[in-house]
Amino acid sequence: MAQIIDGLSIAEEFSEGIAYRVAEIKSRGVAPKLALISVGQNENAEFQISLRKKMAKQTGIDVVDYQFDDSVTSSELEKLIGGLNKDTKIHAILLQTPLSRKLSFRDIVNEINPEKDVDGLTTLNQGRLFLGEPGVIPCTSLGVLHLLRLVHDNISGLHAVVIGRSSAVGKPLAQLLLNANCTVTLLHSYSKDLESICKTADILISAVGKPRFVDESFIKKGATVIDVGITKVIDANGCAELVGDVNFDNVISIAGAITPVLKGVVPMTAAYLMHNTLKLACCY
Ligand code: NAP
Repeated sequence: MAQIIDGLSIAEEFSEGIAYRVAEIKSRGVAPKLALISVGQNENAEFQISLRKKMAKQTGIDVVDYQFDDSVTSSELEKLIGGLNKDTKIHAILLQTPLSRKLSFRDIVNEINPEKDVDGLTTLNQGRLFLGEPGVIPCTSLGVLHLLRLVHDNISGLHAVVIGRSSAVGKPLAQLLLNANCTVTLLHSYSKDLESICKTADILISAVGKPRFVDESFIKKGATVIDVGITKVIDANGCAELVGDVNFDNVISIAGAITPVLKGVVPMTAAYLMHNTLKLACCY
């Protein structure tokens, strides 16, 4: 039976250290402040935003929340971001994904000053990660790496397979693992023989967004399985629930270690959002 990786406890312990450092820089007159921008209704995003606000409160980080409906235009968002870039009390800006289809995420995120780009999604920060240069690294990728380093004494040389190649999750995670000397395979919707490739993974990370997509046929015995995906589904009783990419109940008997859906990567992402906000406030 796999070790269940308790991301919630790990995130809470990690955030205690952040809270200590936040208190310390506040005593020197700097109050770290994060601006969250979200567009439209999205149950996954709402859940993540509420968790992020909770973690901000625990760590002493101030949050200002901008929520828009789908009618918001690019120029309205760009004007808001322009103002936040100039506001010296704001240290970090997050543009929540997904945006509504009519908006270009890449164009709008690049309006964020890279020194306030808390999730490392501007072209400059993505390029820095690609080159292994110092910059802001996406929070989910940092959270996943943190969990892997607790499970494994050394991840160098391990075969890490990442399913999903988005700019927000899959690609930066693959790059971070490569920078940490893993042998990395990045899979996507055109990949062939997905299952057999996954079965060679020492570390399997799924960031697809398809409920219970990964089952026991994907898993090498003893592998570490990290589930990044979260999708809202309606169960047989008509109730909404958030489900991961991994069929947890049938993978747990084969994997060596596994993350649960809501208490695995999600709280680690929230904790690293606070970590990155603190980092940006310190350098500011
Ligand atoms: P995304 O932009 O929709 O990317 C999904 C990726 O999955 C794409 O690269 C796509 O391939 C790939 N894919 C789709 N169907 C596939 C298939 N049948 N086989 C192999 N690959 C397939 O999503 P995202 O923003 O990366 O997010 C992924 C999931 O993670 C979502 O459920 C999201 O809610 C969740 N998420 C969780 C956290 C957290 O803190 N836990 C943070 C961020 C995101 P192509 O590129 O070929 O289309």
